[in-house]
Amino acid sequence: MLNLCDPRTIKQVMDMFGLTFKKEYGQNFLTDNMTVEDIADACNDDKDITVIEIGPGIGCMTRELCERYSRVIAFEIDSGLIPVLKYTLDGYKNVTVINEDIMRADLDTILAPYFEMGKVAVCANLPYYITTPILMKLIESKLPFDSITVMVQTEVAQRLAAGAGKKNCGAITAAIDYYGDAKMLFTVSADRFMPPPKVTSSVVRIDLWKDKPVNPIDEELFFRTVKAAFEQRRKTLPNSLSTGFPEIPKERLTDIITSCGHRPDVRGEKLSVKDFCALSDAIYKEINQ
Ligand code: SAM
Repeated sequence: MLNLCDPRTIKQVMDMFGLTFKKEYGQNFLTDNMTVEDIADACNDDKDITVIEIGPGIGCMTRELCERYSRVIAFEIDSGLIPVLKYTLDGYKNVTVINEDIMRADLDTILAPYFEMGKVAVCANLPYYITTPILMKLIESKLPFDSITVMVQTEVAQRLAAGAGKKNCGAITAAIDYYGDAKMLFTVSADRFMPPPKVTSSVVRIDLWKDKPVNPIDEELFFRTVKAAFEQRRKTLPNSLSTGFPEIPKERLTDIITSCGHRPDVRGEKLSVKDFCALSDAIYKEINQ
């Protein structure tokens, strides 16, 4: 059987199908069997599940997922790779390859039958150019994924797993905390990819909450508050919120912030997801009184 992590094999397979690595699709393929196995192992504790892979490339991780889990559905944007996957995944009966851009795919419809069968998890070495939009699409879809395990650039991984209110956090941290529990698992150096990216990568696993720990009165307003708080990171919270909520006078916003127990010069990065929930509820009351 071909070792799809061997750089010579990767090159041979790409040449065989007349393909080159497409930078615009973030094609940096893993060349380390151990890393691929570790990611596949980390994906989920249960084996009788469906795993959604985003960007199978030439199929190195797809194979490992097929070996470990009941079903694998792989979304690949690059139509050039579809015949490659047919070749490299020949013999695996539990895989379905879908030639679609994950950002355009109708996940509700495509995945409905798999949610009926049981747990569904996501596992991917994500293309770096589109990491955050993909993660936001997955979590905002509200589909009941059990876990999302992704390799992303380390800087993004740190932000995902930082915990809102901690160093390195951003709007994405609060969004991830709202939907689940994110943990940084391990780091992978650039020389484990072909071609090597300019950055180091890390694997993060997000276990989605079964019961969310916070329930804002108005979820849309909660995310609007988070977005406003981080849009101008250097500004204090009253300043950044007054840009995001022009309908509320700045003095009122300062009162709301202090009534929630914060100093008026606090910055958004100091707030936990619970703090954001309380703040957005107070803003809701101000708007709807
Ligand atoms: N899984 C392989 C590996 O680990 O070696 C390849 C990972 S490579 C970093 C990212 C893969 O995602 C590429 O195969 C690329 O073509 C695919 N891709 C990029 N954008 C995509 C999108 N919007 N939807 C689906 N696949 C995408």
